[in-house]
Amino acid sequence: MSTFLELGLKEPISKALIDLGYEKPTLIQEKAIPQILSSEQDLKAFAQTGTGKTAAFSLPIIELIDEKDVNTQAIILSPTRELAVQIGNNIEEFSKYIPELKTVTVYGGANIEQQIKQLKKGAQIVIGTPGRTVDLIKRRALKLGNVKWLVLDEADEMLNMGFKEELDNVLEATPETKQTLLFSATFPKEVEAIASNYMNNPVEISSGQKNQGSDNVSHEYYLVTEKTRYPALKRVADVNPDIYAIVFCRTRRETQEIADFLIRDGYNADALHGDLSQAQRDSVMEKFRKKNIQMLVATDVAARGLDVDNLTHVINHKLPDQIENYNHRSGRTGRAGNTGVSIALITKKEKSKLFPIERILNKKFIHTSIPTGKEICEKQLFHLIDKVENTQVNESEIETFLPSIYEKLAGLTREELIQKFVSVEFNSFLSYYENAPDLNDLSSRENSRGISSNENMTRFFINLGRKDRLNPAKLMGLINEQNIGEKVEIGAIDILDTFSFFEIDKDFEDRTLECFEENRPDFNGRTVNVEITKTDRGGGGNRRRRGSSNNAGNGGFGAGRRRKEGATKVMSNKDREFGRRRSDSGKTRKAAEGFGRKRKRA
Ligand code: AMP
Repeated sequence: MSTFLELGLKEPISKALIDLGYEKPTLIQEKAIPQILSSEQDLKAFAQTGTGKTAAFSLPIIELIDEKDVNTQAIILSPTRELAVQIGNNIEEFSKYIPELKTVTVYGGANIEQQIKQLKKGAQIVIGTPGRTVDLIKRRALKLGNVKWLVLDEADEMLNMGFKEELDNVLEATPETKQTLLFSATFPKEVEAIASNYMNNPVEISSGQKNQGSDNVSHEYYLVTEKTRYPALKRVADVNPDIYAIVFCRTRRETQEIADFLIRDGYNADALHGDLSQAQRDSVMEKFRKKNIQMLVATDVAARGLDVDNLTHVINHKLPDQIENYNHRSGRTGRAGNTGVSIALITKKEKSKLFPIERILNKKFIHTSIPTGKEICEKQLFHLIDKVENTQVNESEIETFLPSIYEKLAGLTREELIQKFVSVEFNSFLSYYENAPDLNDLSSRENSRGISSNENMTRFFINLGRKDRLNPAKLMGLINEQNIGEKVEIGAIDILDTFSFFEIDKDFEDRTLECFEENRPDFNGRTVNVEITKTDRGGGGNRRRRGSSNNAGNGGFGAGRRRKEGATKVMSNKDREFGRRRSDSGKTRKAAEGFGRKRKRA
């Protein structure tokens, strides 16, 4: 393998790369850099994110650019603001020893006047999102008449996002003589059309086999029902205490809902999607980069700009509509020499969607069982033991307390002490999973039940079950006592061990919640809690909270996982370190599952 100097890059550039810790070029860099340096022929590169493609096109441009000429000589288009900013930052780092070289990054959602001012000062390299770039061309603030290089980065994604017209506009504003460099992870026909319409006899290079995923990623699928999809997601998180993952969803709404559920259930999670303001997106991404968030729930588009190399997992909560996107998703893990796992949660019906993906990947998905409660408990337990083993003891700090602690515990044997200490951390976890069903049994009533077939009905969760001696007649009596309205239709009723479901005419949805909240009924000494369930999730994770409850410690699904309104969303590092989380009231509450990222009793 060659060095960057051997590839033909000058000293100031290779010096900057050494500062960045780039020792050797990656495969795509080895192929693209000499090609662009030595030829003006257009270039079509098959390259995924994570292969080092940004440096592959930026470095030869920096090498060849005339820094004495202040005209814009290179325009780089990228699908998202985040990616554009990242490319801009990379180029500034690569060219830090070439002070005359200036870059400007332009994107929507930011002050255009400011960007115009920056452009007026002159920039040899401009990086932009398609929409804003076109705006600036139309305002004559961005002049592309002297452009020698046009880079289309993540061309497939730009077309997916509907930027075809903008690409056409930019391409038309640049001189015929320019060199076009097109980078794409996939080559659907729309990208091929751009290549054939706008490129002259391009050279093709690849960072591996076309469209093929990284060798460092293993692809697994878990069979779920609509009801077990969310509980299965939680189990994946619970069986991997150090998980650092992106959970991909198809829509903004699904993204926000899953993130809300995970947050409510005590995980270090947050959402990233286009409905958030730019400031919110920046803040979420920053937290994720710093690992203050372990699970980022994101749409395909929003996650594009995120530059994170060490993800342990990519989770497809639902498979993408376009199969090429699976490749983009799974390519987020297994980067920079790390290994990673890409998990698809699929129903039996969705299984056929795996075959075309396997063909593209040239790899088979491995069918993996959803972890059982026992497996999770075992994994978490040993994680805890490892943590204890590796904990540094600050002797000087605890010295003064030790004599009285020793005295208090003197009556316990070593074994008793270990058992008790493990139980302090573990009891709530064990009790949560004690009655948890095997999610792999798709035919079981518990796993398949739960979705209202009647769209005129709303399905409610109630925190009472057989153990509270609830039966359908008593539940109907309880509902009628709330005076929701005359002739309110009550639909299907499912009584389970510790909780139940019932359906009510959709028109009375809000009224039902209001009545239960106002009346705060009591059933055999327990405060009743009623919440709306969402149809595409199951288990205890599908409830919109309303009202109050005293059901903590009830065992089974839903037990002890309650979350006070207003509890802080993300744990601080310190909280995580101690495996606990405080509510605004300052009281700590028990977590039912998960160690590092769950609320616990102090
Ligand atoms: P990219 O595919 O351009 O998004 O790059 C993926 C990651 O690899 C980024 O974090 C880069 O900083 C890093 N990277 C790119 N080229 C190299 C290299 N030659 N050596 C080490 N890291 C690199």
